[in-house]
Amino acid sequence: MPITIKDVKTIITQPGKSQLIIVKVITSEPGLYGLGCATYKQRFHAVHTAIEKHIKPFVLGRDVSRIEEMWQMAMVNGYWRNGPVMNNAISGIDQALWDIKGKLAGMPVYQLLGGKVREGAHVYVHCDGRSPEQVVDNIRAFQQQGIRYFRVQLGIYGGISEEMVKPENAPAGAYFDPKAYMRDTLNLLAHIRAELGDEIELLHDVHERLTPIDAVQFAKDCEPFKLFFLEDVLPPEQTAWFRNIRQQCATPLAMGELFNNPHEWQPLIANRQIDFIRMHISQMGGLTPARNVAAFANMFGVRTAWHGPSDTSPVGHTVNIHLDMWAPNFGIQEWYRPKPLDYDIFPGLPEVRNGYLYLNDQPGLGIDINEELAAKYPPKDEVIDWTQARLPDGTPARP
Ligand code: MG
Repeated sequence: MPITIKDVKTIITQPGKSQLIIVKVITSEPGLYGLGCATYKQRFHAVHTAIEKHIKPFVLGRDVSRIEEMWQMAMVNGYWRNGPVMNNAISGIDQALWDIKGKLAGMPVYQLLGGKVREGAHVYVHCDGRSPEQVVDNIRAFQQQGIRYFRVQLGIYGGISEEMVKPENAPAGAYFDPKAYMRDTLNLLAHIRAELGDEIELLHDVHERLTPIDAVQFAKDCEPFKLFFLEDVLPPEQTAWFRNIRQQCATPLAMGELFNNPHEWQPLIANRQIDFIRMHISQMGGLTPARNVAAFANMFGVRTAWHGPSDTSPVGHTVNIHLDMWAPNFGIQEWYRPKPLDYDIFPGLPEVRNGYLYLNDQPGLGIDINEELAAKYPPKDEVIDWTQARLPDGTPARP
């Protein structure tokens, strides 16, 4: 008799800034369950409904061992596919089934992928400040904790543009000035290199804020600072421009957190136009497609740098790290620095020691959820401001 899916529970909790969606797949075997991340915080109600009304009825009674079959069928069951809401819903089930398979095998999930090639995963941390001096101070504080890779930003994405001249009746929004942002960021990089030397690893996230030709120029201008990578220098709609950047400089390029569809990552990898692929794993449909992309990227010399901010759940972060331990082409892992409350709600959440992430080597994903405690932090509704980005004249821009 196969072990089957008996129930699917959607748990939504907000212990910090992010509305986290965790899927718990309960099996016909007493006490056996798995957890998966389905966190799309900006549209959590839509994912919740997709799981409860569409995915749950589809998976109930299915054999838990058939992860690949479930994933293939779930992707086309709604006929239209590759959207963020359904990809996240499918990811919740997919990751939970990997967790269950590991528990049944008595092995951590990385063993099911092929085993470890490293003992710990290098992390980078996000490091911003209101001035170059403040960013340097913040880097020094992280260095005390053993961190060696820093994603450096002046202010929030798009920089700090206080001197901007807006037109009359300018509407509300998250304004930024692309030219000021580029100038200030190059100054920041020069200041950090002058203060801290060439040994530390620097990353920077453009967050798709530039026009394509400015992106080409900016990537060139960053070249002397020898970044570990330059992230999202173009929006997903303009990825054909990566060819132009490649022809002009050797700045390493990272891309992918907004990708939903294989057509977005396939050509960039196959044409060797980026160096790091960094999808948000729940957003691409779970561990199953991420494993395939990692193996595919490896054939082209492209490394992984899975998206790992605070709007990935602790369960999702743990999935990232299982992939990191196994993938020969692992590059770096973004890490969000969880709070003590996150560790209380999610026992088994990995830890960073001296700049490396470690797993606990429990069977499955090795992470659990304290549902009673999670329920004390219900999700809050919000209209998101930071994505209402505008250029100085008020034009809506990519956030
Ligand atoms: Mg990013």
